Amino acid sequence: MRTYNFQCCDCNEKFNVESRYLVKKENLVCPNCSAKLSDDIFEKLKTAAITLEEYDKNHPDVTMDENAKHFILNIQ
Ligand SMILES: [Zn+2]
Repeated sequence: MRTYNFQCCDCNEKFNVESRYLVKKENLVCPNCSAKLSDDIFEKLKTAAITLEEYDKNHPDVTMDENAKHFILNIQ
């Protein structure tokens, strides 16, 4: 399971979204100040997340270090 970590540029709120929820979202909004990530950037991020989810499904026998399965995304 991957977790995407975000930090809002407007209010510095840090929040994270699990991959399985990210791929179902229509947009990404800061839980504190409701700032919204631009749609085209979010679509690209979601496409990447879906690709990674597919990779996990297609390679169930591949095991990775816990650290290697996660990555941190900081948006500034
Ligand atoms: Zn915010």
